[in-house]
Amino acid sequence: MCGIFGIYRHPDAARLAVYGLYGLQHRGQESAGLATTDGDRLHSATGMGLVSEVFGGRDLNDLPGDGSIGHVRYSTAGASSPQNAQPIRVSTQHGPIALGHNGNLVNGEDMRESLERRGAIFTSTCDSEVILHAFAKSRQETPVDALVESLLQIRGAFSLVVLMKNRLVGARDPSGFRPLVLGELEGASVLASESCALDLIGARPVREIKPGEVIVIDDRGIRSHFPLKALPHTPCIFEHVYFSRPDTLLDGKVVHRIRLELGRTLAEERPVQADVVVPVPDSGTSAAMGFSEKSGIPLEWGLIRNHYIGRTFIAPHQALRDLSVRLKLNPVPEILEGKRVVLIDDSLVRGTTSRKIVRLIRSAGACEVHLRLSSPPIVNPCVYGIDTPRRSRLLAANMDLEAIRGFTDADSVAYLSVAGLHRATGLTPQTSCFACFSGPYPVEWDEQRVAQSHLFRKEPP
Ligand code: 5GP
Ligand code: SF4
Ligand code: MG
Repeated sequence: MCGIFGIYRHPDAARLAVYGLYGLQHRGQESAGLATTDGDRLHSATGMGLVSEVFGGRDLNDLPGDGSIGHVRYSTAGASSPQNAQPIRVSTQHGPIALGHNGNLVNGEDMRESLERRGAIFTSTCDSEVILHAFAKSRQETPVDALVESLLQIRGAFSLVVLMKNRLVGARDPSGFRPLVLGELEGASVLASESCALDLIGARPVREIKPGEVIVIDDRGIRSHFPLKALPHTPCIFEHVYFSRPDTLLDGKVVHRIRLELGRTLAEERPVQADVVVPVPDSGTSAAMGFSEKSGIPLEWGLIRNHYIGRTFIAPHQALRDLSVRLKLNPVPEILEGKRVVLIDDSLVRGTTSRKIVRLIRSAGACEVHLRLSSPPIVNPCVYGIDTPRRSRLLAANMDLEAIRGFTDADSVAYLSVAGLHRATGLTPQTSCFACFSGPYPVEWDEQRVAQSHLFRKEPP
């Protein structure tokens, strides 16, 4: 995860980037940051927490200029800490540069080790920093050529916004794992992870950046290059299932409608006798509407989400951890009492949240809880920028369906099938990455190496 944003040649560049980041907040809540250019120097500010916590009450006078990039972070490589907040800003022989990255490099650790052996020093534990080292070392004449040379060395998932003194550059890896869109606002060009951020600032969506595209925006206009080795295009199917906001457009389709169809297909494949359909808000809401519509079972708001919690409350022991779920979700006994409940969520990852939610629903008096997931079992880890890198943590990689039912304490558990996901989205492993559900991995990686990784370790093994 992570959200990125960029705008070039707008007098209100910093403020618009803050607004854009509000629109991408669902992609990362750990840190937020901004970099701007005044044509001569770059300026930046980053901080831990939500966009409102970092930039809410702040006048942006220390971030002057008419070009900016922004980033919200959900860590997938490297710890959640202030020095890992992005954009990363450095000075090089090619001039000052700032970078925001969404994705995960599969050769980041190898590159870092070889750079360190040659004396490079790093200030973060983000894999993204290797891109700037490779840029700084390049002997190419122009900054754009130097950037391209660095992009030729990295493999894996990257959607990037890069700010230089007099230009904004966007790039998307040749597989196109993570999204990136181009928009236009009052003559300025805008880049954003998702179209919902364009809507928010009133920008017109122009098009998606193509996999493998490097787009250079400066005073001469917009130029597209395709310097990277072409690979089959395999954008992440999980963006449709969970990551993207429901009002975002993916391939021209609004994500909410895609999720409605996932819910309808789930109802066809895995029907159940029940009295109410209850979504796990917000991620299960669209699919629950589709499930209810297809099954004829009424949809009820049996769980109410508190939207003001901010970052997940880190609790020191189990009793407080249980409380933290209640802080976020409150069951409604008037709706649940004595009812057979179909509980709809988008996915099961580690199973720990779902288990607590099933318990909450029962504690409010439900007589049966049938858990339905609007995506297939996650049986493989993701190394392309999602926080599921270890097989040992994935419930469905380690348990059969009956064991998962026992673990979550539901009366029944059922997933959408892989064929159902193909049907509902019209997408297949030929057109999208399905690696975590059914394989194959579009870009090779070394599972052993990642399991033993120290540099990019986020949590203890
Ligand atoms: P679990 O029961 O596996 O602990 O949590 C399932 C919930 O996690 C689902 O509601 C789903 O929306 C959410 N989820 C799915 N993928 C991710 C992810 O990569 N990161 C986070 N934070 N949540 C996820
Ligand atoms: Fe997306 Fe799964 Fe592929 Fe990761 S492995 S990029 S989450 S489809
Ligand atoms: Mg969820």
